[in-house]
Formats: sequence, C-alpha cells, structure tokens
Amino acid sequence: MTFQRQVAIDLGTANTLVYIAGKGIVLNEPTVVAYSIENRQILAVGDDARQMLGRTPGSIIASRPLKDGVIADYSITEAMISYFLKKAIKDFTFRVDLMISVPGGSTQVEKRAVVSACKSAGATDVYLIEEPLAAAIGARIPISQASGHMIVNIGGGTAEVAVISLGQLVVYRSVRGAGTKLDEAIIQHMRKKYNLIIGERTAEDIKIKIGNAYLESASEEKTIEVKGRDFQTGLPKIVKVSERAVSESLQKPLKVILDGVKEVLSLTPPELASDIVDRGIVVSGGTGLLRNIDKYFSHNIGVAAFTAEEPLFCVIRGAGMAIENLNSYKEAIR
Ligand code: ADP
Ligand code: MG
Repeated sequence: MTFQRQVAIDLGTANTLVYIAGKGIVLNEPTVVAYSIENRQILAVGDDARQMLGRTPGSIIASRPLKDGVIADYSITEAMISYFLKKAIKDFTFRVDLMISVPGGSTQVEKRAVVSACKSAGATDVYLIEEPLAAAIGARIPISQASGHMIVNIGGGTAEVAVISLGQLVVYRSVRGAGTKLDEAIIQHMRKKYNLIIGERTAEDIKIKIGNAYLESASEEKTIEVKGRDFQTGLPKIVKVSERAVSESLQKPLKVILDGVKEVLSLTPPELASDIVDRGIVVSGGTGLLRNIDKYFSHNIGVAAFTAEEPLFCVIRGAGMAIENLNSYKEAIR
C-alpha cells in the first residue's frame, strides 16, 4: 500500500497558500523571498521575508519573485516553493500529488518551469490548473455546465477576467493592474495632494481601512490619520485623509480593470453573454475585498456583480477541490 497525500498550491504574486486534502489550508504567507546578493543564499521566506521589504541593507534583497503573475526569477521561486512545501507537508514518506494554479494563457515554457520547480521540491505528480478556473471552482461556480459564467479574479499583480463554459476558458484576458496598482495610486495621490511621502505598506493599509471603489453619495465621510514624510522638508508629518479622497485616487486603476471586463464581454459569444446577464459576474481574489467593488462593476457594466465568499481563498479552495476530484474536473486540468 502506498501512502498518498493530495496537495494544492496557489502561487500568487502577493500571497502563496497551501492546501492539504483532509486538513484544509495549512499555509498562507506573502510571496516574498529575502536572499543575499553575493551568493543568492536564501535568508528568509514568506512572513519573515516580508518584514524585510524596504528595510534591507545593501547586501540583502527582499523581493517578490513573481511579477504580473508569472515567475520572474526561476531559481528563487523554486527555492521558495520547496520551502513552503516542506513547511506545509513535513512528512515526505508519502507520495505527494500536487495541483498548482498557473495564470490563464501561460506558455508551455512557463508551465514546464512550474512543474519542474514542484518536482524538485518533492512532488511526485504535478497537475496544473489555470487560475480563473480554480477561482471559479472555489467560488462554487458549476464550471462544467454548458452555460456561460464570468469570473473576475483580482489579486495583487493582475486581474484575470474569464468567461467559462464546459469546464474551460472561452474568453480570457489578464490585466496588468490589480491591488498593487491601487496602492501605487494612493502613494501618488498622497504626494501630489499633501506633499506626503508614504511607503507601499502604509498605502495598502490605507486602502484596506478606508478604500472604497464606489462611493455612494449618502455615505458618511470616514477619515484616517496617515503618517509619512514631508516631501519638501524631509521631516515626519501626519495628515488626515478622507474616504472620498482615497476613493477618487482609486478610480484610474479601477478603470483599467473595468475596461478589461468590458473587452472580454465584447468578445463573448452571444449565448454565453446572455447567460452572464442572467447569472451575474463573480469577483474573487484579495482585491475582491475592496469595499463596494461589486457595486462598482454592477453600476458601470449594467450586469449584477457579486463578490465570492472568502475571495482570498477561492483559488486555493478550487485547486484543492480539483486535486481531490481529478475526474470531475478533467477538462480544466492540464
Ligand atoms: P495574488 O493572487 O496576486 O497573490 P491575492 O488574491 O492574495 O493576490 O490578493 C492580494 C491583494 O488583495 C493585495 O493587493 C491586497 O492589498 C489586497 N487586499 C487584501 N485584503 C484587502 C481588503 N480588505 N481590501 C482591499 N484590498 C485587499
Ligand atoms: Mg491569486
């Protein structure tokens, strides 16, 4: 009798999650690696490495090895996958069947790179699933039906927009611009409007606390105090920032995602488009937690939009369901 363990990985630009069948999500850490410049020796991975972002001396780099959803630094990514798998699984006397999500439309070269990284990290069999399909499964969309479903998975680096029917992608676009672009817009806004310099983590914090994609006129005005450095004097200062000001700064990067959704709809065959009008658009990914993002899409597209339950976990849940039910998701698995 061979012991077998079914494992899934969501390798995201911002966060990596690991799921083990029978246990659930066992690891959820930022996709960050810190290593020494001199010999590329890994010094820290995940939570520990994130603490180092923007705080490293000259001889150490803390970086995100995935850019725009694809592997930008292969050897560092391989080391990271290996680290996360060992941390999550511990006992490799089992054979490990691994499902890992890849961006829709990944090239053969990119897919092979992911598979070989997983195998050298100790996986026995490696299966790939395109991220929008995993997100849809995790959002409880019945992807195998002969009807059109639209998923908009908005993470840190990319927004993936897909129309799915019969378990496969029918129309797909990846928009370079998601959560991180929202943070950058806040950074720029703070500099222009208040002469205030803030870092990425502060910007993300502001977004999570008072960011709002679609401000209703009646909504009351929330404000928050932001600490940063004055652009001119170089000295620390505190500024009061309103929900409305933050919301306005988010409109430009949000519009880029909206245009991607509109483009995909315009390319969708009419029967499937009419299914989407009936069923609505489903939003997943961490940026799905941005306040009123569902209303933003509904209002600007004229089709109902809903944020999935626990949007940060849709891809990992879907990849986990796929490795546990390989036969039911045959069409979706590569
Ligand atoms: P990826 O798949 O690219 O790793 P995730 O789906 O994990 O990305 O989402 C990460 C993004 O979600 C980050 O940009 C983060 O700032 C954003 N995010 C997380 N929580 C919230 C929130 N409550 N409101 C708005 N954005 C959020
Ligand atoms: Mg993701």
